[in-house]
Amino acid sequence: MSKPDLNCSFCGRPKPETQLLIAGLDAHICDRCIIQAHGIVLEEASDEKKSTVSIELKPPKAIKSFLDDYVIGQESSKRVLSVAVYNHYKRLFQKNTNEDDVEIQKSNVLLVGPTGTGKTLLAQTISRLLKVPLAIVDATVLTEAGYVGEDVESILSRLLQAADYDVDKAERGIVFIDEIDKIARKSDNPSITRDVSGEGVQQALLKLLEGTVVNVPPKGGRKHPDQKFIEVDTSNILFIAGGAFDGIEAHINKRLNLQAIGYKTALEQRDIDKENMLQYITPRDVRAFGLIPEIIGRLPVLTYMSPLDESTLRVILTTPKNALIKQYVQLFAMDDIQLQFTPGALDYIVGKALQYKLGARGLRSLCEAVLNDAMFELPNTDIKKLRVTKQYADQKLSKIELPKLKVVS
Ligand code: ADP
Repeated sequence: MSKPDLNCSFCGRPKPETQLLIAGLDAHICDRCIIQAHGIVLEEASDEKKSTVSIELKPPKAIKSFLDDYVIGQESSKRVLSVAVYNHYKRLFQKNTNEDDVEIQKSNVLLVGPTGTGKTLLAQTISRLLKVPLAIVDATVLTEAGYVGEDVESILSRLLQAADYDVDKAERGIVFIDEIDKIARKSDNPSITRDVSGEGVQQALLKLLEGTVVNVPPKGGRKHPDQKFIEVDTSNILFIAGGAFDGIEAHINKRLNLQAIGYKTALEQRDIDKENMLQYITPRDVRAFGLIPEIIGRLPVLTYMSPLDESTLRVILTTPKNALIKQYVQLFAMDDIQLQFTPGALDYIVGKALQYKLGARGLRSLCEAVLNDAMFELPNTDIKKLRVTKQYADQKLSKIELPKLKVVS
């Protein structure tokens, strides 16, 4: 009996017309049908993935109470941010409705405040709460290379990385742009001394903040001819920009003084808390500082961070969910060593952080310096308890030059 001619059981193509014909139990499939079927499988899988990317929308009070567990103080910015995040994600949920529905605009945020007061921590905590990817980028890096679009794209490469290259996840993520103040135009007057590169970066950021589709090289960095680009739509990405805006107080002061002259009864000078001028910040001051109006318009939620005082630093050291002291206690416990700090020791460490203006970041360097000898010596010995007193801390810190800790971040 002669062998019957073999055909693809899907498209019917005879074997000689195919590159490859694979036999199954009682069917055959050709190379073309395999490729087509593979495409269908991928498409289905990505649709499924899309529908599983979900964000649990929590009301502002719940968002704020989550933030309270990690970020100490900063009541005003936590409230403002909770509402901004809530509204931002409400906007995502509003998708796919009638064309004539009111279009809710993005609630990108601008956080103004001294370094080390918790701006990055706020962005990190929100991304943790929502379980969305977070990219932290430094605006100064963008300045160095100037205008080039590629640099702006690199922000999205980072976000893609944080999302394990799941585009859908990345498109609902958060980007924290640090040191946004460093790309401000240096002069108040646009007609003279333009800081062109800074303004160029601001221009490049505009589209991204507003929402656009960007071709992103997957691995970031330099474009490579054979690298496939990934399309990322930034319309639903929440941008949080932060900066210290050193010297902005002068602009706030000037504005308040002018107002006071105009409307003396409404704004009496004695009501102004000179210690924390940032609380009076308005978009006008940010503009006077040198951010272009278009950028300010695309960061519509403006809030400020307060400097951290002694009692706040003390709480930061011991209270948040992942407070430094809790972390060290845990580290020592893993070596069966019970670690304790006396209140005097904690006050001493906070005092040093304030004295050398090391801020909350410095707390870590200080603790590290106090505990380093013990962390080196104690594992695998009979010593099972370490009580850190003020004297002990003082003795350890006297060995190092504290001002140098400033550079450690
Ligand atoms: P910024 O972005 O404002 O420069 P960070 O958020 O990076 O400051 O803060 C640096 C570190 O200091 C954080 O990782 C955190 O450990 C601590 N820290 C700063 N501010 C606070 C705060 N308000 N509450 C708790 N920890 C804080």
